[in-house]
Order: sequence, then structure tokens, then C-alpha cells
Amino acid sequence: MASKPHQLHIYFFPMMAHGHMIPMVDMAKLFSGHGVKATIITTPLNAPLISKTIDMDTELGSNISIRVIKFSSLEVGLPEGCENLSSVTSPEMIVKFYKATYMLQEPFEQLLREDSPDCLVADMYFPWATELASKLGIPKLVFHGTGVFPLCVHHSLVHHKPFKNIESDSEPVIVPGLPDTIKMTRRELSDHNREGETQNYIATLFQEIMKAELTSYGVLVNSFHELEPAYSEYYREVVGRKAWHIGPVSLFNRDNELKGKRGNKSSIDEEECLNWLDSKKPKSVLYVCFGSLADFSAAQLLEIAKGLEASEQQFIWVVRKEKEEKEEWLPEGFEKRIEGKGLIIRGWAPQVLILENEAVGGFVTHCGWNSLLEGVTAGVPMVTWPLFVDQFANEKFVTDVLRIGVRVGAQGWSRWAEDNKGSVRKEDIEMAVTQLMVSAEAEIMRNRARALKEKARRAVEDGGSSYSDLNALLEELRSIRS
Ligand code: UDP
Repeated sequence: MASKPHQLHIYFFPMMAHGHMIPMVDMAKLFSGHGVKATIITTPLNAPLISKTIDMDTELGSNISIRVIKFSSLEVGLPEGCENLSSVTSPEMIVKFYKATYMLQEPFEQLLREDSPDCLVADMYFPWATELASKLGIPKLVFHGTGVFPLCVHHSLVHHKPFKNIESDSEPVIVPGLPDTIKMTRRELSDHNREGETQNYIATLFQEIMKAELTSYGVLVNSFHELEPAYSEYYREVVGRKAWHIGPVSLFNRDNELKGKRGNKSSIDEEECLNWLDSKKPKSVLYVCFGSLADFSAAQLLEIAKGLEASEQQFIWVVRKEKEEKEEWLPEGFEKRIEGKGLIIRGWAPQVLILENEAVGGFVTHCGWNSLLEGVTAGVPMVTWPLFVDQFANEKFVTDVLRIGVRVGAQGWSRWAEDNKGSVRKEDIEMAVTQLMVSAEAEIMRNRARALKEKARRAVEDGGSSYSDLNALLEELRSIRS
């Protein structure tokens, strides 16, 4: 009698940040939908964010679960309960947070030894996981939480060092060797305002990340081949990495309930939000959201409010703030004036649900990879307002490669509120928004975005590029196992 085939068991271990947990949980659900036993590793306070999104899958019979390991916040000097990058509020806290991630090694090794999974998908922020996996003979795939384009930009900059002889922080320099002419300035590449211990620590961490990547089995990407074909080839041929494109993974949340459950709990009743959108004409609403980490000063928020009002567009604006009695970031009488025309969500928005609504015609985004991809998947053109990390490279991708975006004019890294005291002016915002929503060019960008939306959807269907990449990977993992 033939024995039952072995069920592949894969560990998914995302960095404790929404931009990494959300796509990796979607990935785990995708794999479990293909017959894999999926285990997600996280810390106690992040576990409830994940369990609410996978409960439905487990009820439907998917083999997906969570294992929890302790996060040593107090031991490294972080406040109790600080287990997610979204609660980190200063450069000093970031370093402590990274130090605490190194303390996950021991309990994680214990889990690996208990479960002996067939594969480990681990976040790039856990470079130590590569050595651990190889010690235990488990193939490890890296997940960066970003696309292949920014990885190619990063690779070229590290190898060619085009800034070596450049004095100025604001002089645009061509990123050598890429399929398109991409120019970047030094201040788009790092926290040029800061030097010292924090920067040194982060630089060392990134060296370890790059080293770990060289010995990993490959790279798992939340993207699809048709979005960045020239860069997929460059990544394989020039950078020399084996990568599987299996996205856009947000598409695997098929119904509204699941789409609304990703990440934090929504700060608005989803039905109320969708009813509001449904009362608007198609493509008439601008969605403004800067992801889960952005830290704006009151002065910068004030400029945004004024710019939105001056643009005369309808909008949904997500602000990472609780309702306060005195809100210095809002112009006098603003909410009264925008009643019916604008909606402010303080806290967390059901982003994918909003983007997919017919009424949304534009997206002001910080260019986090997930937001970028969710915008593409919804066929919505963007105003690009990068803040830090890969977001400036992603901006070039949206505006210069895909040509579905308008720059707001952000000049350099702006990680903390103190870095952005209103440097992007009301006039810049008004101009970019008007160009995106109502110019002659707007329709052309919208058509390009619509074409990408179709390609994204085809990629994940039976026989599409992401579907095939996933099957090829599973096949390979099964053959390694046998
Ligand atoms: N997100 C959301 N609602 C919000 C803010 C963010 O659903 O109010 C989700 C968004 O859909 C995306 C993720 O959080 O999936 C943010 O990831 P991204 O890479 O765009 O930015 P980051 O937060 O990492 O800067």
C-alpha cells in the first residue's frame, strides 16, 4: 500500500512590524492553502494580531498555527509591552529593539529542534537565523518585506559605490548598471542627519544581513514577475540570487472580513467607511496613508491638512493619532468645513478595502512596499511621499519605471517628527494631488495602473506567474525533503 505523502512543514518568522507581519501571514495562509503545514513564530503581544486573521482559515481546515516566544523588552531597557516596531519612538529605542531580536535566538532554536520543519522563511532582520537553519540542515528563505527593484538598487550602490567621490548630499547620481536610468541623492539613502552609535549599530546589522543572505537558500518576494521583469532578471543574473515571486499576497484575502482584519483593529467601523465611499462617484476620492511607522510633526500634519483642503478633492486621511481635546495639527474649523467631503481616520484604516473601492482614484503613499503593491493591485495611481529606508527607491520605481505616480517633492530621510517640521509645503501637496486627480496626465496614469491591476490578478490565478513560482518552490522543497 502506498504511504501518505509527507506534508511539508514551513516556519514563517516575520520581524515584529506590521509591514513584515501582514505579508508574511498572508504568505503562510497561501502556503497552507496549498497543503502545507504553516507555523508562524511571533512574540506574546503580536500573537493576537495574527490569530484574528488566521482563525477563519483554521476553522476551514487549514493547517496553520502560531508559536510564541518571549521578547525581552525589559532586559534591553525598552518599556514593558514594546514588542512591535510601531511602538518605537526614538533612534535609541530602535537599537534596543534590534538587540532584543538577537535574544530571540535561543528560544527559536529550541522550537526548531522540537518541530524540525522542512523549511524556514525568516525575516532579513534575523540574519542569525541563517546559521541556525544551516546547523540544523533546514533550507532557509529570506523575506525582505520589499520588492526586487529596491534590492537591485541597494546591490548596485553597495558594489559600485557611485557616491564615493561626491561631496554634495543633494546631487542626483545615476545608480549604475540598472535596466533603467535611476538617479538618487545621498540624503535619500540614509539618515544623513544622524551619526554615531545608532548609525554604527545599524550599519553593522546590515552587514550581517547581507552576509547571511549569501548563504541562504533563496529569497521569497511579495511581488509578481510582470511588475518588475527586468529587475527579476537582474536580481538572478547580476545579483546572483534565487528568488520566487509569489504575490501580490494581499489578494489571498478574498472576502471583506479578511481584508479588514489585516494588522491592527480598524479605528473606523468598516461598513460606515465603505458606505461613505459608496456614496461617492468613481475615482473621485483620494486616500492618504503613510503606513504603520510614519512619525509626523504637528507642523507637517498641518501642511497636509491645508494642502488637502486647497486641492478641493474628496479624501480619506489616516493619521496615526488618537482623538485629543486640542489637536494642534488641524487648522481651526477644518473638520466642520470638510464634513461630507473628507474623512479623517485616527489610528488604523482597513487599507486594502478602501483602495479596492471604486470611489478611490488616487493614493498619497509613503511608498512602503506593501502599500505600493496594494495600490498597484487596486489599479490606483499615487502621489509619492517617501520617508525612509527603501521608500525613496520605491518612489523611483513608481514614478520612473511604472510611471503611475507624481512626486510630492520629499528631499531626504524623515524618520522622526523632529525631521519634518513642515518641509513638504501645502503648495507642494496641493500641486501633486491636483496633478494626480484632475490633470490631463491623470487619465494616462490611471490607465497604466489599471493594466497593472489586471496583470497582478492574472499572476495569482491558476497558471499565472506567481502561482507557477509557488508550485515550483513547493516541488523543490519536496524533492529536498525526499
Ligand atoms: N496598513 C493598514 N492600515 C493602516 C496603515 C497600514 O492596513 O492604517 C497596512 C497596509 O495595508 C500595509 C501595511 O500596513 O499592508 C504597511 O506596510 P508598508 O510596507 O506599506 O509600510 P510600513 O508600515 O512598513 O512603513
